[in-house]
Amino acid sequence: MCEFQLTMIIVKKFKPNQARFTLSLIILFSLSTFIYAQNPASLSNDEQILDKKLSLLKNNILTNAEKEKLPIYSTTFSALKPLIENSELYKTFQKMPKGGLLHSHSGGIANAEWLVNKAAEYNNCYVFTNSENQQNYLYGQLMIFKENEAPTGFVKLKDFLKNNPNQKEKLLQLLTLKRNNLSEYLDYWVEFEKRFQRIGSLLTYRPIFKEYYKEAFQELINDNVQHVEIRYIFGQLFDENKQDYPIETAVLDLKEIEKQIQKTHPEFTLKIIYTSLKFLDKNMVEKELEKAYRLKKEYPDFITGFDLVANEATGNSVAYFNPLWKNMKNLEKKYGVNLPLYLHAGESCSLYNQNISEIPMEDNKRIGHALNLIYFPKLMEKVKQHQNLIEVSPISNQILGYVSDLRNHPARVLLANNVNISINSDDPGVFGYDGLSYDFWMAYLNWDLTVKDLKKLIFNSIEFSSLNSSEKQKAKLHLQKEWTVFVKNSIQ
Ligand SMILES: [Zn+2]
Repeated sequence: MCEFQLTMIIVKKFKPNQARFTLSLIILFSLSTFIYAQNPASLSNDEQILDKKLSLLKNNILTNAEKEKLPIYSTTFSALKPLIENSELYKTFQKMPKGGLLHSHSGGIANAEWLVNKAAEYNNCYVFTNSENQQNYLYGQLMIFKENEAPTGFVKLKDFLKNNPNQKEKLLQLLTLKRNNLSEYLDYWVEFEKRFQRIGSLLTYRPIFKEYYKEAFQELINDNVQHVEIRYIFGQLFDENKQDYPIETAVLDLKEIEKQIQKTHPEFTLKIIYTSLKFLDKNMVEKELEKAYRLKKEYPDFITGFDLVANEATGNSVAYFNPLWKNMKNLEKKYGVNLPLYLHAGESCSLYNQNISEIPMEDNKRIGHALNLIYFPKLMEKVKQHQNLIEVSPISNQILGYVSDLRNHPARVLLANNVNISINSDDPGVFGYDGLSYDFWMAYLNWDLTVKDLKKLIFNSIEFSSLNSSEKQKAKLHLQKEWTVFVKNSIQ
């Protein structure tokens, strides 16, 4: 129902004597306020001013690019980054409340330079520097060893960085993945996975693990993100006291970090989506799924879902795991808890990749990437019917080689078809940035978005989060409050 229809109802119902007319105006005002609060698609006056301001900032960037002969649409994020950081648009987006980050991964979430500096503070942190023999370790791999126990080829990170000031930059290049040229050929996934391998073991060292996630959440809070969901692959933590802590330790540590952060940011919330790997066989994933149910029973409001990750071109299909999805009803009975799926699917530009169509839609809440969904219009309808949200990660999609010119990103087709989406950063630590503002900048510049769209994307990230209903209510109130302040401040 639109405001005009409401006015007509009110005018018909009330005879136009003075008192009734005033009453009808009051009703109309409160009804439209109610509708406005319920429907983020309608904009207030202030929001309309902001809309004009943002579009002006965007046009300035485009005009300047033209003057400088910079082909902005065919320049990669990695090359545009300094320009983005200097833009007024980026500074505005940094201040914008972004709701939740629904799609991120363990080991890919905190700033890489911070990690190198932090690791160098530890006397027992070593780096592998033998470029000829990389059978067991990768060049640049960071690990923790006891004094005199580091294998040949490892040197103390501290010494490695001290001896040559260029080493840090060299190491950072090995820990981050950039796309320097849109047409260059590179097996991005092979390089991408090496980045995780280089820090994987380091991040299971409990003291660094704790500092890493604290830093990651702080970076997101600084960028005005209030809620975080991580696809978390549980590795066994270790330290000087114990070689293999049970996986509950990681859960308790993460919960403790959340609690500490809430002391200064009471609105901050964290959820963990238990994650395993697509290339493992059915039996192994079956055990992981059971572990996930067991953890969910223990921490029902913290472990909120299950997912499988890795390169879709080389891993098993979603349908390969069908017997497992079918068995979820039994696991639900056995453990007395419901564990929704948040599957990655369609992170591919191929028509032959059918993962999207194989998702058990009624058990699945959100889909990671779904880049090829637009080639299956009937499925797109099904996604809408089942109220699944698509988690879109523009920068990740460009760096991993799926979409070169972001004006052609499938998210634009999804938006045009009213499919719910949210903006995410996937693995910002690996892609050489932190926060979520860069992704909003790239989306805003390339997709002809309006403030109406931005607002919908931001509120979607709370609406479709895995927060429980009372947490969601609180989160929405906080976001609405922050949004109003943001709009007011940014139009002054
Ligand atoms: Zn992902």
